[in-house]
Amino acid sequence: MSTNSTTDSAKRRSGPRAGSAFPRSQPDHDCPLCPRLAAFRDANRAREPKWFNGPVPSFGGSDASLLIVGLAPGLQGANRTGRPFTGDYAGDLLYATLLEFGFATGVYDERPDDGLTLVNCRITNAVRCVPPQNKPLPAEINTCRSFFTATMAEMPRLRAIVMLGRVAHDTTLKTLGIRAVHAPFGHGAEHQAGNLRLFDSYHCSRYNTNTGVLTPKMFRAVFTRVRDYLADGSGLA
Ligand code: SF4
Repeated sequence: MSTNSTTDSAKRRSGPRAGSAFPRSQPDHDCPLCPRLAAFRDANRAREPKWFNGPVPSFGGSDASLLIVGLAPGLQGANRTGRPFTGDYAGDLLYATLLEFGFATGVYDERPDDGLTLVNCRITNAVRCVPPQNKPLPAEINTCRSFFTATMAEMPRLRAIVMLGRVAHDTTLKTLGIRAVHAPFGHGAEHQAGNLRLFDSYHCSRYNTNTGVLTPKMFRAVFTRVRDYLADGSGLA
């Protein structure tokens, strides 16, 4: 694990940019801002009209201290069910880990009506619409950052962010005004930005877990750090 401090400008701030010009945290169901993703959404609606097929809302209350940031909805996961990480492989490891560490209660059953409840935790995605091949374009990541910025801004008790993968890491840093050189990505790396603690993790995708890039033990190690950070005085609002 490495721990990095961020720039002076980041240290002066204690949350998302003050006076955000992006007050809305949830896009319209027909958000048109990314033409390629909107066209993909239309095609998915025509093919699978019973799926959610829209910008997936954040899951969990805005009063949470912990925010988990993923990449984008999976085609047959969150894009189908309408809840982040729900219904595909990535959710199996994420929700099992959140339940183990007390950031969720109930039972995860791959359905948005399974009754699972997040505890002091919220989950969102850097890009709200499912991208083809699970690969958003840089312009799409930049465009959707307005909603991510607003999501952070509406969380007054936010103290810790888990960034699942490089895209989540990069978009979080840009939102916070931190230069990448001051907070390099690495599994288990931690960075301080004002009173926010940033935790890096490899994404809990099927590819990463099947190839051994990320093991459940490695993932649990990150959440051990998060739990301990929030449990001591520095992590409380
Ligand atoms: S990815 Fe975000 S900005 Fe782009 S169309 Fe979807 S909701 Fe709108």
